[in-house]
Amino acid sequence: MTDSTPPTEKSPENRPAATPLTRLREARWTLFAALCAGILAVALYDVPFWEMILALAFLAVISAFVPRRASARRLKLSEQREMRRMWPGTGMKVTVDALSTPCFVADGRGITRYVNTRAQELYRGVKPGDPLSFSLRVPSLLEAFDRVCTSGAEERINWNERVPTESWYEAHIAPIYMPGSGQEDRKRGVPDFILVVIHDLTENRRLERMRTDFVANASHELRTPLASLTGFIETLQGPARNDPDARDRFLAIMLEQAGRMRRLIDDILSLSRIELKANVRPASVVDMSDIVRHTADALSPVAKELGVEIRTHVPEAPVRVNGERDELIQVTENLIENALKYGSSGKIVDVELSEQDMAGEGLSCLLSVRDYGEGIAREHLPRLTERFYRVNAESSRAMKGTGLGLAIVKHILTRHRGRLEVESEPGKGATFKVRLRSIGAEEPTEEKIPA
Ligand code: ADP
Repeated sequence: MTDSTPPTEKSPENRPAATPLTRLREARWTLFAALCAGILAVALYDVPFWEMILALAFLAVISAFVPRRASARRLKLSEQREMRRMWPGTGMKVTVDALSTPCFVADGRGITRYVNTRAQELYRGVKPGDPLSFSLRVPSLLEAFDRVCTSGAEERINWNERVPTESWYEAHIAPIYMPGSGQEDRKRGVPDFILVVIHDLTENRRLERMRTDFVANASHELRTPLASLTGFIETLQGPARNDPDARDRFLAIMLEQAGRMRRLIDDILSLSRIELKANVRPASVVDMSDIVRHTADALSPVAKELGVEIRTHVPEAPVRVNGERDELIQVTENLIENALKYGSSGKIVDVELSEQDMAGEGLSCLLSVRDYGEGIAREHLPRLTERFYRVNAESSRAMKGTGLGLAIVKHILTRHRGRLEVESEPGKGATFKVRLRSIGAEEPTEEKIPA
């Protein structure tokens, strides 16, 4: 919380109480006027001199001892009103401080009067007393601020910054009228203070962009097999109507294209199901040894077809983790299947499961899937888990890939509080490692645990 020092010496509350002498001093011009009037009365109307002196003395005593409350209060109120314009009240500061977004309170001249804690964290060096333009150097924001100062009508503006990374912001600029501010000010639209609240929209924009990219990519992926199917149907209805050889060939391709569409839709649905459960902690305990053995066995026909041997190194004892069996099978299956598809030239895929004691993090379950194929160039590694990202689109399609396998793996692991690590060098194969928190041997497998 940052605030500038309030002007205590001018404060009406701190003024010394009025003494008879100060009251006399305040009434000096009135007494002087009475004296002049008295002298005139003595000179022109023969009023006795002593009567004039008596009246004057009476007036002086009244001036000295009777407090003039009304004028003092008027003075106090006008001073207070002016001070309220200069210094935001405690209530306003406390409210602004409670907001989690950066907020600035400035006066009508554009001088920062208060800066909440969040704004101090984000805009280092910002101080009350400095012009707002020192901390917020956005021309459109400052123009909007000036408009709010003169019109008193709130405004919202958006802008984006490209340095150091692309970010989007929205500012809400609202006038504040203090309870005692004059009606004319309100009518003229001149606010006492202006509140500037800044929202960072970067994360929302990123999600929006991801969503629209996803829809565009999914439509594109579906359109290609659909166009191929439509083309073959038209050919079969027309030129190839009476050609049994062509019909058989085309029907086989159509089946393959339909399969591609089905796989894509299955993967999209799978991804959206996992996203829906993203914040729900898996509610059971499963044995990873069993899952890895089961998956390697299930994929042995694929391995045989591709001429690859799967070597499993899995402990006999159960390796227990909190997780959902079907989702962890999907993770293991996607990784082993990728190693078989893209690393088939290495002829061997090593699947290893172990439990490690991680210093400070407890027991960890490590699944490693290693192939000895072509590997992946360094620049692709950070993007592998993006939806529809493929190192080589042709080879992925040839291998019946959808480009969603590793995105699904990442989402499942996020839900399981797990991690995916990829190590690879072109020509030397790739290793995909999954880390999950192991829960040791105490708890029974497949038993529900509280969510
Ligand atoms: P796909 O459905 O295309 O297999 P994935 O998300 O599973 O999609 O994988 C994304 C891309 O990562 C693949 O298209 C492939 O280019 C690359 N990739 C994944 N695993 C391996 C691997 N073991 N070796 C080489 N490249 C791989």
